[in-house]
Amino acid sequence: MERKMCEECNGKIVKKNVDYIFLGQNLGKFPAEVCTSCGEQVFEEEITRKISAITKQKGLWGLNDRARVNQIGGSVGITINKKIAQFLALKKGEEVILYPENKIKGEKNG
Ligand SMILES: [Zn+2]
Repeated sequence: MERKMCEECNGKIVKKNVDYIFLGQNLGKFPAEVCTSCGEQVFEEEITRKISAITKQKGLWGLNDRARVNQIGGSVGITINKKIAQFLALKKGEEVILYPENKIKGEKNG
C-alpha cells in the first residue's frame, strides 16, 4: 500500500468517506484522504468536480465571496454581498455571530 504523509503536518493519511459541508449544508459523503493528525482533507480532482457540480445544482455556487474590511469609526466593518444576505435571509438590524475559521489572510485579487 502506498504510504502518504500530510502536507500540512506530516501526519498519517487514511482514506475514508467524509461529509462535505458547504455553507452549512451537508452535500453528502465523499471519498477523501484525511490526515489522522490535523484532519486536513484532500479530495481527488474528480471528486472536487463532482462536489462543484452539486453546489451548482443546489444554487450554492458563487455564494462564498471575499469581503473587504472597512474602517467605521473606531471599529471595522465588512460588507456582505447580496447573494449571501439573501441565502441567509439577513435583514437590517439583525444580529449575527462571526467566528474565526482560520488566520489565513485573503490573497490579493489578481
Ligand atoms: Zn496533517
